[in-house]
Amino acid sequence: MQAVTTHGPGDVRVEERPEPQLEAADDAVVRVEATGICGSDLHIYHGRVKIEPGFTIGHEFVGTVLAAGDGVTEVSEGDRVLGCFCTACGNCFFCRRGIYQKCDEGRVFGHGATLGSLQGAQAEQVLVPHANLTLRRAPEGISDDAALFAGDVLGTGYHAVRAAELAPGDTAVVLGLGPVGLCAVQAAKAAGAAQVIAVDSVEDRLRVAESFGARPVHLTEEDPRGAVKEATGGRGADVVVEAVGHPDALDMACRMARKAGTVSVVGVYAERCEVHMGIVWLKSLRLVTGHANVIGHVDTVLAMMSAGVLDPTPLVTHHMPLADAPEAYAVYDRHEALKIVLSP
Ligand SMILES: [Zn+2]
Ligand SMILES: [Zn+2]
Repeated sequence: MQAVTTHGPGDVRVEERPEPQLEAADDAVVRVEATGICGSDLHIYHGRVKIEPGFTIGHEFVGTVLAAGDGVTEVSEGDRVLGCFCTACGNCFFCRRGIYQKCDEGRVFGHGATLGSLQGAQAEQVLVPHANLTLRRAPEGISDDAALFAGDVLGTGYHAVRAAELAPGDTAVVLGLGPVGLCAVQAAKAAGAAQVIAVDSVEDRLRVAESFGARPVHLTEEDPRGAVKEATGGRGADVVVEAVGHPDALDMACRMARKAGTVSVVGVYAERCEVHMGIVWLKSLRLVTGHANVIGHVDTVLAMMSAGVLDPTPLVTHHMPLADAPEAYAVYDRHEALKIVLSP
């Protein structure tokens, strides 16, 4: 079968790989029909995340169950399913408390040995461990394009808002309007935010946020902090979602939040980063951080998608064949696409 593999910075190839076989009783093999390229795949593409050469990448997928072990009870052969970006065992200390993203045996698709040696989903087929938790039947009426957001990008945008405990009537700010930030805009509106202020420096992204009901504010051509003050009577935002993953954005988020407000950090951090603890402490800010609990939220997210409350389809800007993955990565790297869906 064909699979998209990494061979170091800027070097993505489409190579022949053996078809996956069931290994454990709760494994499934899925024939991939649509698979997304994600911002975290770019970390691999740029060599910031190092993976063994030849490893298959990708972690967003929709497809059909080809085979399922005896222990798989929640989906069956022939079912149209979507996957979560990571797996969870369901039995460890964290899983028993519903904190699936911190499962002691959690593995992430397409991220090499450091995250569990689980071959990726940008391939014609993918092996899915713990299929009862990792897979969901894709609801009728939800397109492949939309369904592949549920187990990653939309689940993360939803988590950012849910973890912040955004309440109806709140003012929310979303910093960074990549796909996750734009999904957070939708989730904040769905949670009852009275106003959502969306900040980025890319005009197209600001327009999408506006179409989702946010007030767009340009990062450099306008005054984002002034806009938040003006919108809140000088108080600051109840919730600020930091969807960039850069110290400057985190600093801005802490300054935009009101006293006793919440900064919800879904931007990715792996290194030391300075935070003005004086601001955090004096304002009594609450920081919530870390990977999204996508497995914990996926059923809620799918229900909201079925109801039409959340709809990520406007974020899909490109469809390309899996065989054109090298070109697709180059396009994505040039920031010419919001979401590229590859079809094997
Ligand atoms: Zn992703
Ligand atoms: Zn676990």
